Amino acid sequence: MSLYKQYPINVQNTLTSQKELFTPLSEGKVGMYVCGPTVYSDVHLGNVRTFLSFDIVFRYLTFLGYKVRYVRNITDVGHLVGDADEGEDKIAKKARLDQLEPMEVVQKYTNGFHDVMQLFNILPPSIEPTATGHIVEQIAFIQQIIENGYGYEVDGSVYFDVKKYNEDHPYGELSGRNVEEMISNTRELAGQDQKKNSLDFALWKKAEGGHLMKWPSPWGEGFPGWHLECSAMSTKYLGQDFDIHGGGMDLKFPHHEAEIAQNKGCNNHGGAKYWIHGNMLTVNGRKMAKSEGNGFTPEELLTGNHKLLERGYSAMTVRFFMLMSHYASTLDFSNEALQAAEKGYKRLMASVSLIDKLAEPGTGAIDKAKSDALKGGVEKAMMDLSDDFNTAKAIASLFDVSSKINIFYQNPSELAQIDKTTFEEAIELFKGIISEVLGLQNENDDAQDGKVLKGVIEVLIELRKQAKFAKNYELSDKIRDDLKAVGVQIKDEKGGEMSFTID
Ligand SMILES: [Zn+2]
Repeated sequence: MSLYKQYPINVQNTLTSQKELFTPLSEGKVGMYVCGPTVYSDVHLGNVRTFLSFDIVFRYLTFLGYKVRYVRNITDVGHLVGDADEGEDKIAKKARLDQLEPMEVVQKYTNGFHDVMQLFNILPPSIEPTATGHIVEQIAFIQQIIENGYGYEVDGSVYFDVKKYNEDHPYGELSGRNVEEMISNTRELAGQDQKKNSLDFALWKKAEGGHLMKWPSPWGEGFPGWHLECSAMSTKYLGQDFDIHGGGMDLKFPHHEAEIAQNKGCNNHGGAKYWIHGNMLTVNGRKMAKSEGNGFTPEELLTGNHKLLERGYSAMTVRFFMLMSHYASTLDFSNEALQAAEKGYKRLMASVSLIDKLAEPGTGAIDKAKSDALKGGVEKAMMDLSDDFNTAKAIASLFDVSSKINIFYQNPSELAQIDKTTFEEAIELFKGIISEVLGLQNENDDAQDGKVLKGVIEVLIELRKQAKFAKNYELSDKIRDDLKAVGVQIKDEKGGEMSFTID
């Protein structure tokens, strides 16, 4: 039986505000779209948390045996400084300030983003499309929206007609906003504004003089609106209906609301069936923001080079720390919390390392209840993950199992009572959850230590060869004898070569 049948998932769907049984549109397959970064500055930790949350969703679905197509875009045009379609394009602005080509800005911060994702062991998506690579699809999308009567052109720019759309489909269904209220609460538009209503948003913007990023279109030279790329690219790679759409909570309105409206306005399908939103990071109880001076970069967190940090923390400690809370809860950064996470992470990984040192299980009289309890402990962690990807609860369950492993190590007679097959199944699942689902790697890896040790011995052997060549026998003997004293035997081979063995 597939694991996904054994562990059905319940997911908190933002669209319905309900926890629902997850049933993909097509059996055994999942299509997931997550809004990626706008690549005009370094990734901040809030972003890391969002992408880590969806990394867990991706990893867990894959672990359960689903074939997952995970699309996470790169926004490299169209995201304006102002929320209401005004101001400069964020990337064009950065390019102007740094005197770079916009695509140099894009490449630089895309590389940086990938490095940070790799550092925290966040897997790459199946497809990582860019907005600039999908101008043709976006133009076609706009044309269909206009044809359906939900878009209008004014002097080279095209806007989405929210009021008209709302006559046929509810606008605000995701964020729970009421359009009539929103319209009555918004100021009257000044005469020079092109929009019919301030709730309308840009699908296409005319490139004013000197604008660097522009493409020809039926409405003249311009560039796509920010919300549009996600509609066009999710439809292209996942279809008009797909399973999961994710992103940070701050994107719910207007970005995701606009996406749904564009999709329905274009093809009468709403896109994703399940919407998942990750919560934000706070620092000592306050929202993490550049303006508050409490936003760390990943690098500052690793080096401890920030006034709010007592010291640096490893990437896996930070990953573990973030997983200690459910994605839908806020997560508060503090030195105490990070230190507690570091301890927990080391404790969990120590029990993984202990597994190889355990005695043989099942050599005594088998205690079925104890054997089943071990397996049940690991299965509990799976059920926690199936409960809306609750890593916090899953980690607590894994700690129960790691306590058992410690007991087995200290007291082999306990392990003797555990059925061998049950033990092996439980341990395989335990290791799988830690490495494949939670993506935790052992930073104090023995294999890494072994590599370093071998390298150091080879350096010493090379020095001994040189000493011999120079007829400095005193030194060459000293290297041999000192290495022998610490358990490394050097053997002289033919032709002056040397080999070694470690006791
Ligand atoms: Zn998006």
